[in-house]
Amino acid sequence: MLDIQKIRADFPILNEKVNGKPLVYFDNGATSQKPQVVIDAIAKYYQEINANIHRGVHTLSQLATDAYEIARGKVQNHINAKNAHEVLFTSGTTFGINLVANGFASILKPGDEVLVSHLEHHSNIVPWQMLCEKTGATLKVIPMDENGELIMSEYDKLLSNKTKIVTVNHISNALGIINPIKYMIDKAHEVGAAVLIDGAQAVPHLKPDVQDLDCDFYTFSGHKMCGPTGTGILYGKEAWLNKLPPYQGGGEMIKEVTFEKTTYAELPHKFEAGTPNIAGGIVLGTAIDYMNEVGFENIQQQELELLDYATERLSEIEGLRIYGNSAAKTSVVSFNIDGIHPYDIGTIIDKLGIAVRTGHHCAQPIMNFYEIPGTIRASFSFYNTKEEIDALVEAVKKAQLMLS
Ligand code: PLP
Repeated sequence: MLDIQKIRADFPILNEKVNGKPLVYFDNGATSQKPQVVIDAIAKYYQEINANIHRGVHTLSQLATDAYEIARGKVQNHINAKNAHEVLFTSGTTFGINLVANGFASILKPGDEVLVSHLEHHSNIVPWQMLCEKTGATLKVIPMDENGELIMSEYDKLLSNKTKIVTVNHISNALGIINPIKYMIDKAHEVGAAVLIDGAQAVPHLKPDVQDLDCDFYTFSGHKMCGPTGTGILYGKEAWLNKLPPYQGGGEMIKEVTFEKTTYAELPHKFEAGTPNIAGGIVLGTAIDYMNEVGFENIQQQELELLDYATERLSEIEGLRIYGNSAAKTSVVSFNIDGIHPYDIGTIIDKLGIAVRTGHHCAQPIMNFYEIPGTIRASFSFYNTKEEIDALVEAVKKAQLMLS
């Protein structure tokens, strides 16, 4: 069991007041808060070892390079990648997806198919649409049902030898549904398709094992798992990363440059052009250490309790509908109240210090499916409490009274 008050003391922002009320932060799906060790590690990097990496023989450059590569190793261990060079530092999930989609432009031909799911964030839809426009490939959509689950019998039917890549999130950001990705990866491989998993919403809650999953690519953002913004990871199987062309050209990603022909660096540098977010990469390692110290079993236990409690308490409210009903769900409650726009609820409860996300959550196809403009999304982290959920329920009731 977690000592929640001790954990909360690690996050200075949780003591802040918003609009004169204690902050209740339930927008963890958008970005998590940062523990003091992460905040301190950023300052420590700039105070003690700031230098450019992989470039200098001088001591600071070597210290910074070592710290950056140690962080890569931490990520490798964390996701159980076979090799450190299969772990690429990026600026976030969006970058990782675009890198792969761009690379597939050299592989796809007209008539080939890309499968995306109906449950995706826009950043796992738009890059594939752009890829299809560029190559003449066709985008196919794995449908969802009323509960917010992907329909596996339809997925099976969509797969064929035309399918070249399947791209799906591990956990849906708008609904919190955990997708059956192991099944989906195995099925895609049976027809020879590659699979990219968007793990943006998974890594705050669980430790993915990329070898066990056998996915070809797995990408996520650091800022949703206690790390700094502008950091992220793309894991790719070595064979795929060798096959794909570089995404960006520039310093660091080359072996040799002449005006006649440039050759590229080995992995991972082939995909890491320019000066990266060095402090960010190093401190992502600190964030991963912190989460492992808290322990993912503890995190899951606390978050599941919060999910059950919030689902039960919010269901007391008349006219409230929760979207996304599945046994496989993480700590997200996405809901609406009859006759009231989600934005209006969000605005009123913000005045009471409660931060939730309102709108389409960058997942408009899901909102279109339910024929709604958006939802109110409360997404919980391990540092949240049942008392905060009580405050949310009271605030929503108050807003409902004012608006109806
Ligand atoms: N995919 C999912 C499922 C997300 O929830 C998000 C962000 O909310 C993204 C992708 C994009 O992440 P980022 O903006 O950090 O690149």
